[in-house]
Amino acid sequence: MPDININGIPVKFPFPEPYVPQINYMSKVIESLKTSKNAVLESPTGTGKTLSLLCATLGWVENEKQMQQRCDEIDEADGASLSAMFEDENGACCDLNQIPLIIYASRTHSQLKQAMDELKRSEYKYVKAGLIASREQLCIHPKLTGKTNADKMTMCRSLVQKKKCEYKERLDSPLIYPILKSHENQILDIEELGNIGNKYKCCPYYLSKEMNKKPEIIFMPYNYLLDPKIRNANQIDLKNAVVIFDEAHNVEKVCEQSASTFITSTQIDTAIGNIDHAINKLNESGSRDIPIEIVRRLHTTIKALKEYFDDLTLTRTPINPTGSTTHPGDFIHSILKTVDIDDENVNCTIE
Ligand code: SF4
Repeated sequence: MPDININGIPVKFPFPEPYVPQINYMSKVIESLKTSKNAVLESPTGTGKTLSLLCATLGWVENEKQMQQRCDEIDEADGASLSAMFEDENGACCDLNQIPLIIYASRTHSQLKQAMDELKRSEYKYVKAGLIASREQLCIHPKLTGKTNADKMTMCRSLVQKKKCEYKERLDSPLIYPILKSHENQILDIEELGNIGNKYKCCPYYLSKEMNKKPEIIFMPYNYLLDPKIRNANQIDLKNAVVIFDEAHNVEKVCEQSASTFITSTQIDTAIGNIDHAINKLNESGSRDIPIEIVRRLHTTIKALKEYFDDLTLTRTPINPTGSTTHPGDFIHSILKTVDIDDENVNCTIE
């Protein structure tokens, strides 16, 4: 299929004649990439926007790569100084030593799967694609089935550290490695990673990490991008990256969730029980590794928090059966202040 010229960039599109809305959409994508500007693009359902988005972005990246190659050739032929004079059509100097990584983020894994399926159907199916997913989706260890993601993380780390997870160990075996290598250039979604893991009895989670080395496009759920802790833990570098948020109207909700935390009465009761236990142990052993005054103070604070919540009156109505209320963000500070937690003592550390 011949390339289509969209906004000065050759784009491989699977159909000879894209519809006018697809051409307009791709043109806007390329305009924002060329000018390094953010774009909010909307297109009605069923107009093939995921395909248009992927083709336009990958066409632009391919063009960037070709410009890089031309720069390198000029460097080789005429010395480095000439490449600095090589300019793109916007008059910008060719400084393309870093080809941008495309990060494609969606809210759910099923949306990511759909986007990966579109990529597989496109002319760009040869690009190296990666996927970031958690152990919750990818762990196949039977002992971890049904555990929460947090538990899976803790148990997995411990097993891996002790070299006790046979699935992880098998991944590194010289017999399996070449078979896995043969999947290296495939675009694998969660289901396919799981199938490979189950077939060869090797860990799909670490397999996905292996496959994420040097991808050209990487798919991930929103929270991997939006939550700085998760982003840093996964070493996701946004510098020079093209970030695509699919269905971006969901971003606000995900940001809200990543900045929120839930504390249940049971958790508070458990915390009080654990602190009681710690105080007893400290008294029994006579140890002062942790000053007992600090532990007692923590006990008083958590108990005060429990009493505060127990005294709250909830107005339940048929429309609002849980009696939930909404307050401005700093309301939480006033609650914490009533139990003696404020900016000054929040960082109280054990010397
Ligand atoms: S290494 Fe893989 S299979 Fe083993 S516990 Fe961790 S995530 Fe599960």
